[in-house]
Amino acid sequence: MAAYLVRRIRGDRFEVSKWEDSSEPSAVYTVVQGRNGWRCAAGWHCSKSPKCKHAKIILAWLKAGEEQRVARGGVPRMLDAQGSFLVDINSD
Ligand SMILES: [Zn+2]
Repeated sequence: MAAYLVRRIRGDRFEVSKWEDSSEPSAVYTVVQGRNGWRCAAGWHCSKSPKCKHAKIILAWLKAGEEQRVARGGVPRMLDAQGSFLVDINSD
């Protein structure tokens, strides 16, 4: 099952990396939140409602305040393709 990590590059530009069964990401997408919707490097051109799954993942990440949590020193958490946070695999 793929897992995703989000980070803000700067401003309205985000990076979503896709992780599968490897120590390296299998794909990295740049996604931009534009005035007229989201633009995703995977080729989706979404209108105001973000249909692109990467944009949906970013919205869930933003809504959860994950950016602030990580800025305070929290360990970044992965999300699934539906935008739900996965259990921290580093804590056992
Ligand atoms: Zn996308």
